[in-house]
Amino acid sequence: MAHDTEHNPEQAPQDLAAPSGEPLSTPWPHADGDGTGDPALWRCGGCDCPFVQPLDWDLVGRSHWRVTLRCPNCEWVGTGVFSQDAVDRFDRELDRGMRKLQGTLSRVSRACMEADIAHFAQALESDLIVPFDF
Ligand SMILES: [Zn+2]
Repeated sequence: MAHDTEHNPEQAPQDLAAPSGEPLSTPWPHADGDGTGDPALWRCGGCDCPFVQPLDWDLVGRSHWRVTLRCPNCEWVGTGVFSQDAVDRFDRELDRGMRKLQGTLSRVSRACMEADIAHFAQALESDLIVPFDF
């Protein structure tokens, strides 16, 4: 048997033991977000705003994730280990936030477009735009 190569696969650091069913004592600022028992991962530990974004995540054990979160508002960064359920929930909240954002965005861009059209029509009326402009 030749031991010519050193087997060194990129292993995740094993500093965190796989959770064994007992509740994790994660020092999370919003450990029970809205009374459902799930931590409110989307809520900032610094300024309490609900727009926290995931920076990084790693599977820990078989059903938990170590997630690093960052608040775009106050730059707060927190890392915690959460159950699959809590992460799923966070995912749904992110999704909902994203849809809300897209809704706002399309409303805003529509408003901008309408403003542009109004502006353009006004410019046409006051002869500010002549064929040479095209
Ligand atoms: Zn914050």
